[in-house]
Amino acid sequence: MLKMTPTVLKNLFSKSSTRMYPFEIREPFPLYRGELFNDIDNCIFCKKCEIKCPSQCITVTKDKESGTGTWTCDPFACVYCGICVDVCPTQSLRMEPNHRKPSASREMIEMVGKIKMPKKKKAAPKKAE
Ligand code: SF4
Ligand code: SF4
Repeated sequence: MLKMTPTVLKNLFSKSSTRMYPFEIREPFPLYRGELFNDIDNCIFCKKCEIKCPSQCITVTKDKESGTGTWTCDPFACVYCGICVDVCPTQSLRMEPNHRKPSASREMIEMVGKIKMPKKKKAAPKKAE
């Protein structure tokens, strides 16, 4: 008992090694990969994220009749590698530096947006003869 007393006293009066989460939240590290978001207005439904995702948790579909596209992600299958963000040509995907909230059911993230028509290339100016 006498041997333990200094250790007990030291621990009692020293700074805590843990935080009182969720009241005290640690600032995320730089380049932290957290919750995935898609700014659907910038998404062109090119499927690059779906093709490159290693855990196959993204599905991109197009409905030409309604002119809409659907981007679906299973956040429970995501391994937060960030590859989808890196390959997205329009930067519509981003990762927020926070943890996804816990959920009792397996909810999918589903976003619907309008399919944009490819921009017409401007005709080259005619050369003066
Ligand atoms: S890579 Fe980007 S633009 Fe292409 S479907 Fe995925 S989120 Fe949309
Ligand atoms: S972060 Fe990785 S695992 Fe998650 S959706 Fe993107 S590519 Fe897939």
